[in-house]
Amino acid sequence: MVTIDSLHGVNTKTIEQLSKLGIHTIDDMLFHLPLRYEDRTTIKQLAELEVGDNTMVEGTIQACEVKSSKKRSLVCMFEDDTGTIMLRFFHFYPSQREKLKPGTKLRCFGEVRQGYHCLEIVHPQYELVDYSNSTPDLAEHLTPIYPSNSKLNQTVFHSLIDQIFAKYDIIDYIPENLRTEFNLLPLLEALQTLHHPTPQIAPKLADDKHPARFRLAFEELLGHHLSMYSLRASSNEHSAACLNNAGILAQALLTQLSFQLTHAQQRVIAEINADLRSINPMQRLLQGDVGSGKTVVAAVSALQAIESGYQVAIMAPTELLSEQHTRTFGQWLEPLGIEFTWLTSSITKKKREQVLATIASGQVSLIIGTHALFQKDVEFAKLGLVVVDEQHRFGVHQRLALRNKGNQDGVYPHQLIMTATPIPRTLAMTAYADLDISVIDELPPGRTPVTTVVMPNTRRDEVIDRIQHVCTDEARQAYWVCPLIEESETLQLQAAEETATKLQESLPNLKVGLVHGRMKAKEKEQVMEAFIAKELHLLVATTVIEVGVDVPNSSLMIIENAERLGLAQLHQLRGRVGRGAVQSYCVLLYQLPLSEVAKSRLGIIRDNHDGFAIAQRDLEIRGPGEVLGTKQKGVMNLRIADVRRDKDLLNDVVEAGKIIFKDYPEQCQALVQRWVKEGLNYGEV
Ligand code: ADP
Ligand code: MG
Repeated sequence: MVTIDSLHGVNTKTIEQLSKLGIHTIDDMLFHLPLRYEDRTTIKQLAELEVGDNTMVEGTIQACEVKSSKKRSLVCMFEDDTGTIMLRFFHFYPSQREKLKPGTKLRCFGEVRQGYHCLEIVHPQYELVDYSNSTPDLAEHLTPIYPSNSKLNQTVFHSLIDQIFAKYDIIDYIPENLRTEFNLLPLLEALQTLHHPTPQIAPKLADDKHPARFRLAFEELLGHHLSMYSLRASSNEHSAACLNNAGILAQALLTQLSFQLTHAQQRVIAEINADLRSINPMQRLLQGDVGSGKTVVAAVSALQAIESGYQVAIMAPTELLSEQHTRTFGQWLEPLGIEFTWLTSSITKKKREQVLATIASGQVSLIIGTHALFQKDVEFAKLGLVVVDEQHRFGVHQRLALRNKGNQDGVYPHQLIMTATPIPRTLAMTAYADLDISVIDELPPGRTPVTTVVMPNTRRDEVIDRIQHVCTDEARQAYWVCPLIEESETLQLQAAEETATKLQESLPNLKVGLVHGRMKAKEKEQVMEAFIAKELHLLVATTVIEVGVDVPNSSLMIIENAERLGLAQLHQLRGRVGRGAVQSYCVLLYQLPLSEVAKSRLGIIRDNHDGFAIAQRDLEIRGPGEVLGTKQKGVMNLRIADVRRDKDLLNDVVEAGKIIFKDYPEQCQALVQRWVKEGLNYGEV
């Protein structure tokens, strides 16, 4: 990869600014596409100008003076053979006035506006022209205008792009036969068209489906797809812990449960079991809507590993969820005589050392924790299975780090990755090409859909009455969620505390608790346990309860400032109620005024109960980075392609990917490196 500093005229400051725009290499520069173009290829006659034209004109200055009417400005009368216009400068130097003296010939570019007397161009870009030698050349193609920041001038981009086209071989990594098969332009042609279009082509570039843009979007998606696909292939070469056993423990768990597994749960358990018996490590994504019962599936898989003498690590994104898992798994596994432990970053040093010792010695079979599980000093005796819950909260790197942690003499643990974010199939094929996918597409029987209402914050009192009724007359419990909206965390917590205090004042005969992310683990646990034991009626919480929390007696959820949250997040939060057979309610409170878009988004949540439909709508509104929760994590951060707009292309990308991976290994690597900066590290973490 050639870095940008190999080009002429790039100093440290420029490098710094370019890197802020994500431009480090010449490839990055080539794929930094223009926002728009200016036409400096022809000169328009002054008589033909129309208001709104962005155009080049050429003529002679007739007069130049400083006018100080409303606002001081330097004004020049400017004429050619056909007419006269004004050039106006509000900011100018005295020397400029000298330069623009009558008789001077200029070539100007700018936007034509209607002035008081005649047409004018305000602050034109201009150059003095000298016809004594020869007529100066006009641009051959349109002038690209690049996305930039205030510190970087367009001329920098122009110079870089010109140098790259002149000096470097731009290599097309998509072989010609595939270009023909998938109808793709050669790379150089696509890039030249986009950076330097002719005036005839320019209007067509606005079309998203233009072949030049199509070619680049295709290549970008292909690069991302190949990075995941290669990852998959490399893990297929690893050997895995062999978990072939009679399933006695799993059977013992199932007979002890108070419910029957749904068909969907049974099906995915069978899919997982087949993987666990394979000689290669399982890489499976388990998708299932909120409340579909993923935890018990994880427990059955865990027992499969434990019965074969291996350890299992279960990683949850929040401490709260990991605590809850500790309770759930405790209930299920204790009767079976299985030892387990809990590891998060908040336990004391001494306790931590003890816990680490039991993990390293193999004394405990099941380890539940947060990302603390893959810290350096954690050593497993014999890790056979890693379960990652609520995957959307983790990055690819974290998941791979945990996998590699379990690598013992080239034997890797199996991985089960669980998510409640239903990912549309085409997107999953590209973003999660390294994973097989199982779906729990059925909720346990007897659930009643949550009735959702959308209300302005001004109707708070009615909501408080409702809490009173639900918690006393119906002996149910309720959540009140205050999303984090203040800038500072301290203010956020203050807001949550204040809400809790106010609610307690309004509901004197109810017990109100508060839980938030900054509390000590012990405190959080106490509050949650009190809520589970029904000692608290109302739990005020920040969005820490978003993932996984399962208290079936709660039947009312209020979410404040709902308009500020993503649809998937609202759906997750709402999934905390409606876990039993009783009718549950979710109230989405919003601040007035509410924009039309916000209104329709809340409407989507009110009218849909299916996480898949919601995710689909979310994808349309917000884009894949948000839906996958990977925006900050560098996965599928697309520069050119857009999964919504380019979804028709994904099937072809997968097809082409297969061929390139098999027959063109060098090109495959180069494509990954070009498009996914972290790509090559995936194999190493
Ligand atoms: P999620 O998929 O959101 O993680 P959980 O695993 O927390 O869902 O399950 C939600 C609730 O449903 C739990 O209380 C769990 O015990 C219960 N549950 C799971 N499977 C079944 C089933 N087949 N029948 C009835 N209840 C079930
Ligand atoms: Mg869960």
